[in-house]
Amino acid sequence: MPYLGATMDFLRELGIEALNDGAFDGAWISTEGPALDVRTPVTGEVVAGIRLGTARDLEAVLSAAHDTFLRWREVPAPLRGEYVRRIGNRLREHKEALGRLVSLEVGKILEEGRGEIQEAIDIADFAVGLSRQFHGRTIPSERPRHHMRESWHPLGAVGVITAFNFPAAVWAWNAMIALVCGDTLVWKPSLKAPLTALAMTRIAASVLEEDGFSAAVSLITGTDDEVGEAMIRDRRLPLVSATGSCRMGRRVHEVVAGRLGRCLLELGGNNAVIVLEDADLEMAVRAILFGAVGTAGQRCTSTRRVLCEKSVFDALEDRLLEVYATIRVGDPLDERTLMGPLIDEEAVASMERALERIRAEGGEILFGGGRLELEGPLAGGHYVRPCLVRARADMDIVKEETFAPILYLIPVEDYEEALAIHNDVPQGLSSAIFTRDVRRAEAFLSASGSDCGIANVNLGTSGAEIGGAFGGEKDTGGGRESGSDAWKAYMRRQTSTINFGNALPLAQGIRFGDSGEDPS
Ligand code: NAD
Repeated sequence: MPYLGATMDFLRELGIEALNDGAFDGAWISTEGPALDVRTPVTGEVVAGIRLGTARDLEAVLSAAHDTFLRWREVPAPLRGEYVRRIGNRLREHKEALGRLVSLEVGKILEEGRGEIQEAIDIADFAVGLSRQFHGRTIPSERPRHHMRESWHPLGAVGVITAFNFPAAVWAWNAMIALVCGDTLVWKPSLKAPLTALAMTRIAASVLEEDGFSAAVSLITGTDDEVGEAMIRDRRLPLVSATGSCRMGRRVHEVVAGRLGRCLLELGGNNAVIVLEDADLEMAVRAILFGAVGTAGQRCTSTRRVLCEKSVFDALEDRLLEVYATIRVGDPLDERTLMGPLIDEEAVASMERALERIRAEGGEILFGGGRLELEGPLAGGHYVRPCLVRARADMDIVKEETFAPILYLIPVEDYEEALAIHNDVPQGLSSAIFTRDVRRAEAFLSASGSDCGIANVNLGTSGAEIGGAFGGEKDTGGGRESGSDAWKAYMRRQTSTINFGNALPLAQGIRFGDSGEDPS
């Protein structure tokens, strides 16, 4: 393929070869696990290989990340910010090449691949500013000549488990914030997207190694059974930040909670757009298209359900059918393409199973669905047709997340019915409403409105900015990452009381053997 050459040159420039070591503890470890072929979903070709890490390699990585933490936490926070500023700048230098690598490795279109690296750059910038703003509080004490304060301190080495679909940005959300907080990282990327992880680690380490801090961005590849399970059990990781399916999140939570560690979970979504009668339908159509078809429906925030008032349902359905007919599926690096391949054959099979269930449960497939056989170099890729389904809210499959471009269109009587259906799913990540009625819009954002972590008005469910806290409720796991005050999850809070008097008065006025009065 024409672009494979350029991406391979970039990988070589970073030191990534045909077969690579799969663990980094400040230096690349000669891993001895099984070799994994990394294939691009674009053509099915093998791009490179990785010798996976083992439990022994994990041990080396954990101890290096912990030892480096003991030194890294002593670096003043604004200086840690300076390292992150330089990491962000290196990402800027390589933005185009990294964006291509993301496209090649996970199949999202180049525009989205570039956007993902921009997100990593943006969060680096955010973290630099944050590094001067870990503000605590001072609190009035009830005791004379005492005062209280709250401080935020680094937590330790943070375990970061990432999903395949954002192979750079999810690590960056965690890494940039954790680094300025004074934490180090142990990253276990998805085995479906390990090359981007090698590239991001090499770029970040090239900044940190100058002062012996490269183990602050440690990496371990490996199987879930051997490496993943050992990682989540380990007490040297006081926080495990895990992004992926609800199934994975339940397991991680069970194990980490069992040792009373902290979890930050970013799990699956089942995101809906409510379209009311007074909506700007053209805006809604564009937002739904990006939400449902972007990243081939493989975003946690992908739009999966449209709940539309009956009076405008047919008009919306007709417009969606028109625009779906124009979607170009194919090579994600061709600027004319709107939808690339799914990640692998299992994802195609899972979409096909979902289509069978949709038919069995009485859904009507209006457009697309199923495997798309392409010719030429793309013949080995994992392409599907984006799919529109007229559905009912009581279909079981509508309540599940199928990680594929399947969109359920559900007619509703009114806002009240739409909201009830909207909230009646196990997941609670992202949501949106299209209306010109400020009362409905505000009701949707109120305590009795959307039950999701993200609720938007007149824009779609996906494509969040880094400045807000990102995450969702219910089966989505309750975690918050990225902007706002999400940094607090990566630090420990210390409350201190300072006595600058000569007596020892007790709180709540308790007398214990003396008067507690100042003898002077
Ligand atoms: P997945 O659950 O299959 O894998 C995610 C990660 O968890 C991988 O790195 C995997 O190796 C690891 N893992 C699995 N079992 C483990 C175990 N027992 N111990 C340790 N690690 C383990 O998910 P996926 O297919 O890569 O990604 C798709 C899912 O991720 C979707 O459900 C999507 O909604 C979700 N996702 C959520 C967000 C969010 O921010 N809420 C963002 C991206 C993706």
